[in-house]
Amino acid sequence: MKILKFGGTSVGSVSSIGTVLNILKQESQNGQLPVVVLSAMSGVTNLLAAMAETASTGGNFTAELAELERRHFDVVKALMDVQAQNPVFTKLKIYFNELEDLLQGILSLRELTAQTRDLVLSYGERCSTFMISKIAAQQLPEAIFVNAAELIKTDSSFGHAKVNMELTDMLIRNFYYENTGKILFVTGFISSNEDDRITTLGRGGSDYTAAILGSALNCSEIQIWTDVNGMMTADPRMVKKAFSLPELSYTEAMELSFFGAKVIYPPTMIPAFLKKIPIVILNTFDTDFGGTYIKHDCNTSNLPIKGISSINEVSIINLEGSGMVGKAGFSGRLFSMLAREQISVILITQSSSEHSITFAIPPADAVKALYLIEQEFELELQAKKLEKPQIEQNLSVLAIVGENMKQTPGISGKLFHALGRNGINVRAIAQGSSEYNISVIISKSDLAKALNAVHDSFFVSLNKTLHVFCAGTGNISTTLFRQLSEHAGFLEQHNGVQVKVVGIINTRKMVFDEDGLSLDNWKESLEASHQEADLDKFVAKMKTMNLPNCVFADNTASPKPIEKYEAIFKSNISIVTCNKIGNSASYSQYKTFKDAARKHGVDFYYETNVGAGLPIVRTLKDLMMSGDRVIKIEAILSGTISFIFNNFKGDATFHDTVKIAQEKGYTEPDPRDDLRGTDFMRKMLILARDAGYVLEPGDVNIESMLPQACLDAGTVEDFYKELNNENQFFADMKAKAEAGGKVLRYIGKLEDGQVSITLQMVDENHPFFTLSGSDNIISFTTERYKERPLVVKGPGAGAEVTAAGVFADIVNVGAH
Ligand code: ADP
Ligand code: ASP
Ligand code: MG
Repeated sequence: MKILKFGGTSVGSVSSIGTVLNILKQESQNGQLPVVVLSAMSGVTNLLAAMAETASTGGNFTAELAELERRHFDVVKALMDVQAQNPVFTKLKIYFNELEDLLQGILSLRELTAQTRDLVLSYGERCSTFMISKIAAQQLPEAIFVNAAELIKTDSSFGHAKVNMELTDMLIRNFYYENTGKILFVTGFISSNEDDRITTLGRGGSDYTAAILGSALNCSEIQIWTDVNGMMTADPRMVKKAFSLPELSYTEAMELSFFGAKVIYPPTMIPAFLKKIPIVILNTFDTDFGGTYIKHDCNTSNLPIKGISSINEVSIINLEGSGMVGKAGFSGRLFSMLAREQISVILITQSSSEHSITFAIPPADAVKALYLIEQEFELELQAKKLEKPQIEQNLSVLAIVGENMKQTPGISGKLFHALGRNGINVRAIAQGSSEYNISVIISKSDLAKALNAVHDSFFVSLNKTLHVFCAGTGNISTTLFRQLSEHAGFLEQHNGVQVKVVGIINTRKMVFDEDGLSLDNWKESLEASHQEADLDKFVAKMKTMNLPNCVFADNTASPKPIEKYEAIFKSNISIVTCNKIGNSASYSQYKTFKDAARKHGVDFYYETNVGAGLPIVRTLKDLMMSGDRVIKIEAILSGTISFIFNNFKGDATFHDTVKIAQEKGYTEPDPRDDLRGTDFMRKMLILARDAGYVLEPGDVNIESMLPQACLDAGTVEDFYKELNNENQFFADMKAKAEAGGKVLRYIGKLEDGQVSITLQMVDENHPFFTLSGSDNIISFTTERYKERPLVVKGPGAGAEVTAAGVFADIVNVGAH
């Protein structure tokens, strides 16, 4: 025989009750008649609690009462034959009248005791179960309504009563055998004490009712039907990527539920565990789901943890003082006092010096706990052996749970790495001595981010989500968004990475979307946005959105975003940039960025600062990290100048060659910005710094290839005029080179800590002799690559390759 328990949402609407009845029909056709346990309709227990509260403060509860009545009556109207409805309406009406009288009493007395509250709450399960048993009886004539208060006997701890198992077992068994052949529809959650006063088993307690019945009747399986696909790796409302667990041990289920996985009520596991009865969590709304099994002898799993759960709101109290050092019995006194007062302690941590004890409790109990402590330890407080305790609020507990933790070192390292990287401060830590869980206390505002970050880091087989904030909507961003959109599927499948662009800013507007902006319609979204561009607000919003795994991508060439880099790192957000200005200004700024990124545990990638998408920065970094030493770097890092010299041949004049380069879009608006070598200088400077040299922009020797008159010219037009006058100068230079079988190359060099950029003539033995189009080339001569240098060569400019470089940097964020 099986127990089938249906939760609030499963009995919360006409259609879901219809589904429940189908499940029950199926079950009774398949074999033995089940025992059914039902919750109150969803939201009803909360509504009843609120009504009682309202009445006790003199408020009006009639609207809520009418709402309650309507919800039940609607179900009866929809699911019962008309001629059978009346007796059900009558009984329900009696319940509602009793409830109204009760609430009226509370209102008159302005008093709500725990005992009365339990009585009020009991109407939820009584109404739903009575009603559904009658609906079911239309098709399953064996159905009878059972009030569990007559079977489950408890002490008088109203609100979370303790069950007298022996007596309860006997009552259940007797009742069951007296009603052989019937399908019992039993109210969940409620019970009664020695005086037959209604008690309740604690919020969520219907699951426990099912386990109590299952244990008394030695059932074969306890089924918990709810509204999700079983126990998941995290609360699916908070972590979208949570997935269902096929099985768990009783301990694991207990720990997860104790720390907030509300899908099953923690005490449920105890009777099931003692009798080794499997519990299966099933989904009323997805009957194809195979269920989560909570049982003995689970198969071994290779996941390091089973799940992550959280308690959204806790308060902590910290006790500190010399009075606690070496004083046996101090914590005993503290915790027995709290237990006596029925304050449940969620988590305790104690420093090894015994100088302080921190414990977490439900916020509702915090003030009372503080008061009790002050009374209990009055003498110690007066003698200043104990400091005045304080309550800290707005905190949450996050716990990771799993039996595999026991054998796997590095679990806590992983947890704290994920939290640290995302800038989440840990207030306290506790590890159960069983090593089945590690729990941390964090600020409530960080909880969603923490859950997602920790989930991403433990379930690596799943896709990790990177949240990208992007500055600039020019060529690079436009191309990047297209590439991201085109490769999204591949990335998810092969790299396990999902990239969401969650914010975009340009010089006019900005737009945000936590779920990711559409990469095909981002222009429209930005256009439609009502938010004017404001970089400070953009940065502030990146912070307040508080998403895990964030990246700021600076795809501008403006100095403005650079000013925000430090603040961005401080918010534990990584930066990917193709903007060279940041790294090539003062050395101290370059250093500050590196230090800030390191200090806050985030990444700073700028591969596209040098040679667009070519692996130059990364190669140098790898060489340095593996202990190699740079002897010399030679490079051509200006795609524009490469293009010009590669096309300056035959009869073409230098003037015309530059003009063509400009027309083809290879130059800056003023070609002198390229020809002067400023851009090249920046790249060489960044490489030199990455190679370990402390250099300022002024330290780079640039040999200008332009005659002074060209440099002095006012407008671009004037410049071209001057350049036209100098055609002979360049033609002579070319002729001289050609006579010696050489070509002209503008080459940057780093040697002995000196950086220079000079116009040179190189012959066919030089690796830079054969360079085509707008290619870049760089050769690293190092201790390891001394005989033959390491050369990287390829297209070093253009939106397509630069965006691809930014793309690669983004995907690399958090990879190490
Ligand atoms: P019922 O009314 O059926 O008893 P509950 O609302 O008590 O259902 O519990 C189900 C809910 O528990 C789910 O809707 C889900 O939001 C929440 N939940 C929290 N943590 C988890 C988890 N780890 N796995 C599944 N559900 C969870
Ligand atoms: N109706 C009760 C509650 O909401 C018991 C339950 O649903 O398990 O807490
Ligand atoms: Mg529940």
